Amino acid sequence: MPASLPTLSPAELARYSRHIQLGELGVEGQRKLAAARVLVVGAGGLGSPAALYLAAAGVCTLGIADFDRVAAHNLQRQLLHDDTTIGEAKVASAARRLRATNPFVNVVGHGDGVTAANALALFAGYDVIVDGTDNFASRYLNNDAAFFARKPLVFGSVFKFEGQVAVFDPARGGPCYRCLFPESPAAGSVPGCGEAGVLGALCGVIGSLQALETIKLITGIGEPLLGRLLTCDALAQRFQTLTLAHDPHCPLCGTIPSIHDLGARATPANCGAHASEFSMNLSDCPIELSVTEAKRLLDMAPDRTVLIDVREPHEVEICRIAGAEHIPLQQIPAHLEILPKEKHLLIHCHHGGRSMRATEFLRAHGFTAVSNVAGGIEAWATQIDTGLLRY
Ligand SMILES: [Zn+2]
Repeated sequence: MPASLPTLSPAELARYSRHIQLGELGVEGQRKLAAARVLVVGAGGLGSPAALYLAAAGVCTLGIADFDRVAAHNLQRQLLHDDTTIGEAKVASAARRLRATNPFVNVVGHGDGVTAANALALFAGYDVIVDGTDNFASRYLNNDAAFFARKPLVFGSVFKFEGQVAVFDPARGGPCYRCLFPESPAAGSVPGCGEAGVLGALCGVIGSLQALETIKLITGIGEPLLGRLLTCDALAQRFQTLTLAHDPHCPLCGTIPSIHDLGARATPANCGAHASEFSMNLSDCPIELSVTEAKRLLDMAPDRTVLIDVREPHEVEICRIAGAEHIPLQQIPAHLEILPKEKHLLIHCHHGGRSMRATEFLRAHGFTAVSNVAGGIEAWATQIDTGLLRY
């Protein structure tokens, strides 16, 4: 934050008068906001309310990092975007909306999103990082990069009816995300919100709380959620605050760390890359293939390969891959005797989580030539057949 705070114009004093009337915040707090640079990672369910409130609150520079494009199934919760922006880059759609909310804010779009290669340089340009991402790979990357860049990270997550918020800032004391969960779960082992569902209005609650914590950090008012995790059970409508301790054995911020840089790591874009060493030997099939590899195999050896869709019937009605056999996940055990062991079974679902469970189940029951299709029909729709409806 700059040593001298900017002076507010009469138009700004009028715009922010309801903030300024708050004695704890006042003109000085508003001037701190007018000097602050905040990066919101992910212009989605959490990033939408967070960025809208931060723009309205008058931060100096608001960065939005997201590589994705607006899709119809985003609009149930991602209020930065609307029906007219479907197909547009999220950063462009978000920037237009945020500039319209408050022309005093300098909105900067980062269309590559956050990657291991750009994270440190990107974070260095901001005072506070708001994590609005929805997958573990991004969450760990944001945590690690914020730690190395010595920037506070305002964490938020939603899953079905539950939400969490915390502030991680080991440089000023307290734990990081890895103090709680040292390692990322294996890809496909935990369903994402795309598979499990998420209540749109809950994103509004959690993203708004992230904006609130960010404003508190910038202005210095109140008690930030440092070393505390706020949890929200939307169905019971119950909030709880748990104390989080710094773990001296944390692989990142502990006394003898094992993580020293952002290094090579799986990101949502390259999760399936390892499967490129694919071999046609049926006893040596990789447990997971990318959609490109699955497509190549189906084209090359259609008589020796079976594509199985384990999604629910209502999902198949939205979109399906031509030629796929539909067996809902629950019915896989009943098909053990029927499925051909001499063929290579390629299992897909929506994002790759349920199909990984089916793959592991079949392998545990004597099938050796079974591979999960990484990223599921969602990856197929973005990389193989862009005409498929996404949801
Ligand atoms: Zn830690």
